[in-house]
Amino acid sequence: MRFDVITLFPELFAPFLVSGVTRRAYETRQVDVRLWNPRDFAEGNYKRVDDRPFGGGPGMVMMPVPLAKCLAAIKAERADPAPVVLFSPVGDRLDHAGVERWSAGQGAVLVCGRYEGIDQRFIDRHVDVQVSLGDFVLSGGEIAAMALLDAVARLQPGVLGDEDSHQFDSFNPALDGLLDCPHYTRPEEWEGLGAPAELLSGHHARIERWRRDRRLEITARRRPDLIDRARAQGRLTPADEALLAKLA
Ligand code: SAH
Repeated sequence: MRFDVITLFPELFAPFLVSGVTRRAYETRQVDVRLWNPRDFAEGNYKRVDDRPFGGGPGMVMMPVPLAKCLAAIKAERADPAPVVLFSPVGDRLDHAGVERWSAGQGAVLVCGRYEGIDQRFIDRHVDVQVSLGDFVLSGGEIAAMALLDAVARLQPGVLGDEDSHQFDSFNPALDGLLDCPHYTRPEEWEGLGAPAELLSGHHARIERWRRDRRLEITARRRPDLIDRARAQGRLTPADEALLAKLA
């Protein structure tokens, strides 16, 4: 899959693309990330990409012309009709289901806004979908783009060290969309605190039951909506329901 990222700050992506477990996905181009700077498509000596907002007010607005030229150059290179995504507080909140959809697709063009945002006419003409990271405001779309790329890359086959270990993460349908259980490692005792006996038991079924119970417990406490969803989807067993009844 290929992601073309339109950003005024391509240098922000350099360390991101060579670090951590996902670097393999980028380096092998399993997730092919190409960076484009609208400034390279801007005109005049000053290579202007932003201007003052019509109607006045603070800040600057990204001009539509360099963005459209940049997008045209990308589309000329891409054979597929890639969707154009704009990161914006206006967009739909990114979640696991959304990440799964992106990770099963051919990629996209990711547009990172800066300043007060981008000229609405570019959005109306070219943007297919707007994606938000949450109900807060970032200085630019780059962190949102990296969040999407990272979440997508780790779902690709073979990217995580342990094959498909993402299936054991929070929200994954493989674990019925529950939150993850707590994790422990050495030392067995730390500052007077032991690790749960079940995890040290070496008994596979006991370990799995313990983990399942903790997932249910933490999800019931923190995100009861996810319990409701798992129940509605028929994913809770009688043993699960018995544990949940005890918590109530
Ligand atoms: N004036 C805008 C915020 C602009 S912030 C508003 O009040 O809605 C500059 C850029 O950061 C935006 O164009 C967008 O690309 C990015 N951005 C800010 N908050 C974001 C969020 N919650 N999710 C995704 N992108 C965001």
